[in-house]
Amino acid sequence: MFLLPSPVEPFTVGGRHFFVKRDDLIHPDFSGNKYRKLQAFLHTRNDAIDTVVSFGGVQSNAMLSIAAMCRLKGWSFRYIARTVPSYLKSSPAGNYKRALELGMQLEETAPDLYRDAVASARSDTETLFIPQGGADSAAKRGVRRLALEIESWRKARGIGALCVATPSGTGTTAAFLAASLPHCTILTTPAVGDAAYLRRQISALMPVPGNLAVLDTKKRYRFGTPHPDLSACYLALEQAGIEFDLLYAPVMWTALLEHDIKETVLYVHSGGVSGNETMLARYRRAGYAAP
Ligand SMILES: *Cc1c(COP(=O)(O)O)cnc(C)c1O
Repeated sequence: MFLLPSPVEPFTVGGRHFFVKRDDLIHPDFSGNKYRKLQAFLHTRNDAIDTVVSFGGVQSNAMLSIAAMCRLKGWSFRYIARTVPSYLKSSPAGNYKRALELGMQLEETAPDLYRDAVASARSDTETLFIPQGGADSAAKRGVRRLALEIESWRKARGIGALCVATPSGTGTTAAFLAASLPHCTILTTPAVGDAAYLRRQISALMPVPGNLAVLDTKKRYRFGTPHPDLSACYLALEQAGIEFDLLYAPVMWTALLEHDIKETVLYVHSGGVSGNETMLARYRRAGYAAP
């Protein structure tokens, strides 16, 4: 059911050679780093958990993955979100539509009551609470498995110094990967906030690993906001042969292509392409020629 270990492919873009670890191919609804972060829960007995609760955006990749996991395990899934835009409610699309099909129970909350709703869900001991984006120490186990796959690929290929690149939201994946791959350099680019914000996020989880390097882009991009540079990068990547997500990957690839890196670079494809349909619609609504 899950394509594991995920394959590694050579990838050439901007005249530079990379390798891509195709974690996006693990499973259609449950892939990328969300699969890795939630993997520990898959090994939990089905009857050990009744209900999972999480919260965040209504097009989130984490939301879709949790919905797919709960469907597989027979668990109920309650998701706390701010009021859903009316255009989305009248014609459901993307991760929102798919998660509802998978049985997600959406708990729409007025913006001023959202924080309290999340706080009360967090303190409910009857349910399994998964923080936004799966930023949880439970993610360590699955990310370690990813690290082992990378390490055996590196050895089989006879590669010495290896840089592993993966973009960051919460930084959970990059930080746990760095901790599990002490002989590699982990390159990451903050897609949400700046480098200082990313370090604070990681510090809440663990001491920031010394082999984690933050690569910044020359320009700053606002998370989730259409920008012509990002759609151009998405298109260049697609023309090079792989579809990536529109939220995180174009920021990391822009940073990679702006820096001169001597070592072999393995980019971990963290999935998220199921969100592209609605992101492309946002590009169109914002008046950009959508790729
Ligand atoms: C969730 C996600 C990220 C961010 O992962 P973190 O562990 O929160 O840093 C990066 N890329 C994609 C495609 C994602 O879906």
